[in-house]
Amino acid sequence: MADCSHADHHALALERLRSAGYKLTSVRQTVLEVIHQLGGHVTSAQVLEVVAQTDPTIGRASVFRTLDLFARLAIIRPTFIESSLTPSYVLMPNGHHHHVVCMTCNRVVEFEECDLDAIAAELERRLNVRIQGHLLEFYAICDHCLPSSKQG
Ligand SMILES: [Zn+2]
Ligand SMILES: [Zn+2]
Ligand SMILES: [Zn+2]
Repeated sequence: MADCSHADHHALALERLRSAGYKLTSVRQTVLEVIHQLGGHVTSAQVLEVVAQTDPTIGRASVFRTLDLFARLAIIRPTFIESSLTPSYVLMPNGHHHHVVCMTCNRVVEFEECDLDAIAAELERRLNVRIQGHLLEFYAICDHCLPSSKQG
């Protein structure tokens, strides 16, 4: 399943770059591979470190520009689940990504299914836009942090 979503995400990334008029340069290819290799949630510092190991000729500024481009094209998106000061980038397989974040312990639960097609269709009609994806976060108190479960 991880492999499947990796392949899906790679295809989405290529399509997003192409349709926005960007080529898959070797820098973009390397950064994309590194993000996939690192998996779910990565900081720019982690990406910089692994890119430097993979290809030392790629400079920090190129990595930052690439992350910025990928974020703008919603290939990845920044979230603040680790820290409100430093973003973690998340993959957007099939164009969407979903979190439930505990407001007390900061635990993050992922979920795959969402039922937002109706909302997206309504927004497309009302605002005359073409929705390309979404990043959805619910803020909650998790079962570990609920007062009732602390007693048990
Ligand atoms: Zn919690
Ligand atoms: Zn996530
Ligand atoms: Zn969704």
